[in-house]
Amino acid sequence: MADRMAAKVDLDDPPVEPPYGCPKPALWRLAREKFEAHRPNASGGCSTCPAWRRCSGLLLARDGLATAMGQNVKESPYWLAFADLMRSPKHSAALRRTDER
Ligand SMILES: [Zn+2]
Repeated sequence: MADRMAAKVDLDDPPVEPPYGCPKPALWRLAREKFEAHRPNASGGCSTCPAWRRCSGLLLARDGLATAMGQNVKESPYWLAFADLMRSPKHSAALRRTDER
C-alpha cells in the first residue's frame, strides 16, 4: 500500500514540500535538503561532492525520501535514527553548546 502511494512521487524530482499523504513530513524535509545539495548540476555532476569521488549523497537522499514515504529501503535505519536525533531536546541542547564555544 505504501509502495503504491510512493509510486506517485517522482524521487528524481521531488517536491520541496512533503507530498500529500507523506507519513513522515519532517523526514521528507531533511532528506529533501540533502537531495538539493547533491542534485545533478548542468553538467550532470554533483556540486557538493569532490569531482574524483562518486556522489553518494544523492542515493542517500533518495533513500531518505523513500523512507519518508513509508518505504523500507537500505538506508531507512540511518534516516529514522537521524530524524529521531533531530527531534530530541538533547540534540538541540548540544547544538546550543557548540554555538556558545
Ligand atoms: Zn554529491
